[in-house]
Formats: sequence, C-alpha cells, structure tokens
Amino acid sequence: MKVPLLDLKSQYSVIKDEILEAAHEVFESQYFILGPRVESLEKEIADYCFSKHAVGVSSGTDALLISLMAADIDSQNTMITVPYTFFATAGSISRVGARPIFVDIDPKTYNMSPECLERTIDAMTRAELARLKGVVPVHLYGQCSDMDPILKICKDYNLVVIEDAAQAIGAEYKGRRAGSMGDFGCFSFFPSKNLGAFGDGGIVTTNSEKLYEKLRMLRGHGSHPKYYHSLIGGNFRLDAFQAAVVSIKLKYLDIWTKARQENSQKYRALFKSAGLLDVVELPYEKEDRHIYNQFVIRVKKQRDDLRRFLNDAGIGTEVYYPVPMHLQKCFSNLNYKKGDFPVAEHAALHTLALPIYPELSDAQLEYVVEKIKAFYLKKI
Ligand SMILES: *Cc1c(COP(=O)(O)O)cnc(C)c1O
Repeated sequence: MKVPLLDLKSQYSVIKDEILEAAHEVFESQYFILGPRVESLEKEIADYCFSKHAVGVSSGTDALLISLMAADIDSQNTMITVPYTFFATAGSISRVGARPIFVDIDPKTYNMSPECLERTIDAMTRAELARLKGVVPVHLYGQCSDMDPILKICKDYNLVVIEDAAQAIGAEYKGRRAGSMGDFGCFSFFPSKNLGAFGDGGIVTTNSEKLYEKLRMLRGHGSHPKYYHSLIGGNFRLDAFQAAVVSIKLKYLDIWTKARQENSQKYRALFKSAGLLDVVELPYEKEDRHIYNQFVIRVKKQRDDLRRFLNDAGIGTEVYYPVPMHLQKCFSNLNYKKGDFPVAEHAALHTLALPIYPELSDAQLEYVVEKIKAFYLKKI
C-alpha cells in the first residue's frame, strides 16, 4: 500500500471543473495581477480569519517581510521568535536587517513558551529593551500559540505582534482565529498548506486601518498615487489566477479541516489500541480548534530508522524541522550554541510528521500505525 505524505491530486479531482472554469475566465480577461479577484479573496479571507482587513501578497515569506516593513523594523531593532519553525520566520527578520532573538518552545505544543518569552525580556538591559521591537509567535502545525500571556507581555512592553499563521488558517484560540490577535497575521498559500494555491501566494490580515493602507502601498513599491513614492516597498503582489484558485478552495476548507481532525481522532484510537502510547507521544490537543496542517508524533528513539522503515513500506513522512534556527550556519553570527534551546533541540531530533491529509482512507491510517507497531516490536 502507498501512503504519501500529501496527495494533492485527489483534492484536485474534486474541484477540477471549477478551477478550469476560473482559469479560463482569468485567461480570457488577460488581467493577471491584483484586480477584482484578489480584492474579493481579501474580503473572504478577512471574514474567515475574523479580521477587519486582508492584503494579498506573493507568498507567506513575503507576508512576514511586508509586515516587518510596515512595522518599521530595521537594523536598529531586534525581534523575538522561536528557533523551531520554518526558516522564513527568522529569515525575514534578518532580511529587514534586524536581529532575531530566540526563545524556547513549549514541549507539549512546540509553540513559543510564554515563560521563556517573559524570562528573556526580564533579563534584558535598558539598551536591549530599547532595541526590541516585537514578537513573532508561530502557530506551528495548525495549533495556536498560547496568545493571552504573549499578548499581555507585548502590551506591557509596547511590542508589535506578528503572528506567523502560515500553517494555521482557521485555527482558534479561545474563540479568536489565528492571525486576528496580533497586529499582523501572516498566511501562506504554498500548495502544501491547508489552503494552497497553484503556485506561490500569501496574505496578511490586520485589524488596523492604518496598517492596512500601509501594507497596500508597500505591496506595490510604496507607490501612492501611481509613480509617487513616499515609502520604499517591493513587488509583493498576488496573481489573479492564484486568488481565483484560493477562493474556490476556501469554500471546501472547513470540510477538509474536519476530515483532518477526524483522521487525527482515528490515529489516536489506532495508536492506543496498538499499545503504542508508551513509545509514541501524540500531538497535544487543547479544546481550541486545531487544523492539523501536520500530525506530528514524538518518538523516544530511532526516529530516523523509523522514517526509513516507513519509507520502505511506502509511507511518506517528514521531519519538520531537523535543525533549529539557532544552529543554522547562516545564523552563526548570532552566537548561539548547542544546548541554548533544549526543548527545540529535542523536538528536532525526535519528531516525525505522518500523513494527515483529508482524503486518507481508514485502511491507509491503519496501515501507517500497523507499520509503526511492526517497527517498534521488532526493534525494542
Ligand atoms: C510555509 C511557511 C512559511 C512561508 O510560506 P511561503 O508561502 O512558503 O513563503 C512561513 N512560516 C511558516 C511557519 C511556514 O510553515
């Protein structure tokens, strides 16, 4: 049996007619960049994310970059984020010239630990506090960070909050949706996200009228009116075709999310009845809505051997992420060392993402757990 990590073809077969019709309309119109399709997607996403505004951009990475630019973060500043995330989070901070400061994650959720955030800020000198401009929590794997304490600390210190919600569209925290709690919410339409385009794309949400206007200007080289530049922006525009695809998929998103949640429940029952709960730690689940962009388990030993074993059995898995940011070569100038963030380092060595996409069959889920059981019964 084959169980790929993700199978976008089966999703496409359901929406194919709608997509081809939208493609035809875009091609006939020969209107390719921004325009009415992007504007209507912006309204739909703002509504979906419980935010006032949304600005379509060229990728999730550019969503982070343009948010940092709109918050006037520059080489004089530092920004706090987590070391256990996709590279774009820390990379974007560096690209505006600022210095990323890392704080460790919570061992259960893999999201920013509010205690570590508080400890780091408390230990800062006055000069360090003056340089610190904001915090970028990441809602990893589809579950929101513990935002109340993070928002409180940020309010106390007057810090901007940029939520990296690239993996968390529709995830909730106490009734609020990812991207609506900070000053900016950054989303990605990379094809492997829960709401993926047919190429690159992203969007920024905000509740601020002022930031909304600024984001719109920065997206088109800071121009307003055309050819008059009071700001230096970039080309962060979203394509009309990508917006059309995302609009169509958005109608299905809650159905797909529900299927992912059901797969998670099925995995939990299967792992339990296989007697694997001593060897495999399952994703921690709060009451809040988790959208399961990834279903990530933690194993005590032999993670890489398990991965090879599953691969040989036709099961796709991935390690998100094998090297925490503070140990990346390109960040060696930040002078972090091994041991600085033990929770992130442990996660990087022991976690494994299993297939969780909506179209998985019961037989496929059973096969995955059966193979994990076979591996550990053989080896332990
Ligand atoms: C995917 C992702 C990004 C970047 O999105 P792109 O659209 O690929 O540029 C940023 N942060 C996180 C946490 C992501 O998962």
